[in-house]
Amino acid sequence: MHKKRRVKRKVIVVFVLLILIGLSVGIYCFFDTEKISFDFSFLNQSVKNTKEKIEEEEAKQKKEEEQKKKEEEEALLDNGYGKEIPGPTYIKGILIVNKTYSLPDGFATGNDPTALAALRELQSGANQAGYSIPLLSGFRSHQKQIELYNRYVARDGKDAADTYSARPGHSEHETGLTFDIGAVDDNYGETAPGKWLASHAHEYGFIIRYPKGKEHITKYQYEPWHVRYVGVEHATKIYENQLTLEEYLGIA
Ligand SMILES: [Zn+2]
Repeated sequence: MHKKRRVKRKVIVVFVLLILIGLSVGIYCFFDTEKISFDFSFLNQSVKNTKEKIEEEEAKQKKEEEQKKKEEEEALLDNGYGKEIPGPTYIKGILIVNKTYSLPDGFATGNDPTALAALRELQSGANQAGYSIPLLSGFRSHQKQIELYNRYVARDGKDAADTYSARPGHSEHETGLTFDIGAVDDNYGETAPGKWLASHAHEYGFIIRYPKGKEHITKYQYEPWHVRYVGVEHATKIYENQLTLEEYLGIA
């Protein structure tokens, strides 16, 4: 008797518990059906987002490439000048002047004293090696460059003049850091002093600014007589790695 009652009580307790669980689940489902049915759409969404992102990135890259190509084409159209970046612009602490990077009128008023002192050292080094490397042309004012460029354009036409003479504001001679030395002669690099200059200029902080075979980068013909002062450390790195200043500064 006693045993039977205990079993009966247990059955009732289990039964009540089952009903309670059933009710709870029922109420839960009733109020929150979304949580019960599993929603996998977020996975699709994430795949979609990734795909869209890749497509967006690709479209952006394509646009940038097209823009770059367009700028290059435009630059070529204007004999390498294209879009001007007004200066003075310094990269790695080096003043850059070329067909893109320009200088304002009156940036310098004469030869840079440090560059000139380095040139005197170079000339004395050349003398000791048995060569004479005279200074032919150094600082040029904006006004002087205007006159010079216009004279060349009148003589040879703009396209030809652009290969050997800078437009005003774009000449390195306006920096006071540049010298034409030895002889303004395409074959100067083949002469003994020209060869000495090419292999020793860096020891005095100078680089041959427009080297042979790099015309497509510098946008100038080979000028074995045109040296630019950048300091011994930079000049040595540029010389040893056979770079142009544009390549060295990462703007080629
Ligand atoms: Zn020059």
